Amino acid sequence: MPSCKECDGKCCKYVAVEIDGPFTKVDADAIKWYLCHENITVYLDHEDEWMVEFTTRCKFLKEDNMCSYYNKRSNICRDYEHDECEMFGDGDTHKVLFKEPEDVDKYIKEKNIVLKEDED
Ligand code: SF4
Ligand code: SF4
Repeated sequence: MPSCKECDGKCCKYVAVEIDGPFTKVDADAIKWYLCHENITVYLDHEDEWMVEFTTRCKFLKEDNMCSYYNKRSNICRDYEHDECEMFGDGDTHKVLFKEPEDVDKYIKEKNIVLKEDED
């Protein structure tokens, strides 16, 4: 398997956080709001989890793409499996990728999703 040195440090240049999918009016509206912002995408992954992704370089990633925080790095970094990564693992983590607010409306229409009212 190729080493991380051959990669551009891809996994250290974003933050992805799980979110609720567009199944209620409030959640669909929130996803569309995320997508109004630069450097943000939303995707459905192959485990059917919804994620919002912020493209942002880790401040501890050095110019040579090595980690300058290695001994103190978080468990998220420690648990990341090289053989499952987006470069050399299973490939694209996106089952469905959303870049624009309109992409959400299109998905809701295509999947015939009836948006629920949120409970108070
Ligand atoms: S784990 Fe994968 S994505 Fe991350 S730096 Fe190594 S090869 Fe690149
Ligand atoms: S702390 Fe190190 S391994 Fe973790 S994201 Fe930053 S550069 Fe990458």
